[in-house]
Amino acid sequence: MSGTYSDFYLQPIGGKWREGSSERTTEVLNPYDNRVLLTTRLANRDDLDAAFTTAEQAQTEWAATPPAERAELLQRVVAIFDARKEEIIDWLIRESGSTRLKANIEWGAARGISREAASMPGRVHGMTMSSNVPGKENRIYRKPLGVVGVISPWNFPLHLSQRSIAPALALGNAVVVKPASDTPVTGGLLLAKIFEEAGLPAGLLSVVVGAGSEIGDAFVEHRVPRMISFTGSTQVGRGIGRIASGGEHIKKVALELGGNSPFVVLDDADLDQAVNAAAMGKFLHQGQICMAVNRIIVDESVYDDFVERFVTKVKGLQVGDPNDMATVVGPVINAKQREGLEEKIATAKREGATVLVEGEINGQLIPPHVFSDVTSDMEISREEIFGPLVGIQKARNEAHALELANGTEYGLSSSVFSGDIERGMRFAQGIKAGMTHINDMPVNDEAHVPFGGEKNSGLGRFNGDWAIEEFTTDHWISVQQTPRRYPF
Ligand code: NAP
Repeated sequence: MSGTYSDFYLQPIGGKWREGSSERTTEVLNPYDNRVLLTTRLANRDDLDAAFTTAEQAQTEWAATPPAERAELLQRVVAIFDARKEEIIDWLIRESGSTRLKANIEWGAARGISREAASMPGRVHGMTMSSNVPGKENRIYRKPLGVVGVISPWNFPLHLSQRSIAPALALGNAVVVKPASDTPVTGGLLLAKIFEEAGLPAGLLSVVVGAGSEIGDAFVEHRVPRMISFTGSTQVGRGIGRIASGGEHIKKVALELGGNSPFVVLDDADLDQAVNAAAMGKFLHQGQICMAVNRIIVDESVYDDFVERFVTKVKGLQVGDPNDMATVVGPVINAKQREGLEEKIATAKREGATVLVEGEINGQLIPPHVFSDVTSDMEISREEIFGPLVGIQKARNEAHALELANGTEYGLSSSVFSGDIERGMRFAQGIKAGMTHINDMPVNDEAHVPFGGEKNSGLGRFNGDWAIEEFTTDHWISVQQTPRRYPF
């Protein structure tokens, strides 16, 4: 390992670290104090083209390398994650406003998927199948897709980029990443440095820094990528899905989109445990997590008790400098996000929610806001919040709680608390979501189990065997062993 990484104003495009070719530059700000961390020249369509065509050329040779070589590369990536842990965590705090706790969790998740990816090259299976044609043998090969385009958001930039990059490269693909404009370093440039240090051949991983609204369509439409792996909002994901599956160059698409996780507390729940889980699942990273608790739904028989304990817990959470070990709630990512959340607070009040906890907004620091008497028609319940605000709804009984839980367009994660595991299981099976956690918060991700959503929360699954499925494709090759008899 040599020195700390620098030169983040350059981008690895088509095998070389260089400036973007646009006339324009962008500033990357620290969300806590708005200090400029970096000024970089944006990438334009020519840069996209260079990144994709180089990736296409480099991929053929890469796909032919022995699986063990690719596995060893990923093992070296894991070792660099360990050696550079503090450097990576500092960047997550500076660039995305992560608290120390969240930055550590994100570092662990990105390291975890890298370690899982190291095992993937040896886990790709083909098969042979019988044939109805005399003398024919069917062989089904599992192959890399080719080039994968990755577009990631700013909230868990390191992990959400790496959960596509690491499996895709491990399985023999090349990758071009477009990180979010707020987090180009942790969402791409830092990862490119890590892969370069691990010995990844040049051209296999490019990072283009540019606004989604400017280069996004060209990125998705490009001839070369055979898949777009997108993580971000449902609104942007819809457009990407349309272009990828209906544009000139049809390609596979994985969409990991918005969420609106219900957190259900049944009448036999351990309330203290539920309160702790709700607080962690809501306020980790200021609520800017797709799986974050969005709606707390409590059985009416324990409602008052839960509310009282939850309010006490939330009032004790420290808001402030994300670098401070004791801080739980740091800054939201940018001024636009703060303004949107201020509007959501005003709308909740206007729509009749009762304010139980609030506080003064200072720059991008928004203290926790808790509302009760929330109904399912209020914006705070219908929409994804993506901030440190939460509403509590009252359910008449278990059936009503399930109806409320399923009452949105989203279906990413969910939680149910009950003292009876079988009852929790029955309830979980009724939830229309990709993930449900019994007696735990909805914020969970393990590198070997399937992660993904239903309904407008997306398409496809990450992690483990599911990532192998996503980042490879089938090739049916048949062998006619004896001359076939044709009818004419
Ligand atoms: P976003 O606005 O959808 O942006 C996500 C990424 O898409 C960014 O890199 C963005 O670039 C890019 N983009 C924007 N417009 C584009 C276009 N027309 N074509 C191609 N790319 C485009 O989402 P965000 O605000 O960064 O992230 C928050 C959202 O992500 C929330 O809804 C959250 O629930 C969701 N999310 C989902 C998951 C999951 O696993 N399901 C995980 C985390 C977050 P710019 O930054 O340059 O605009």
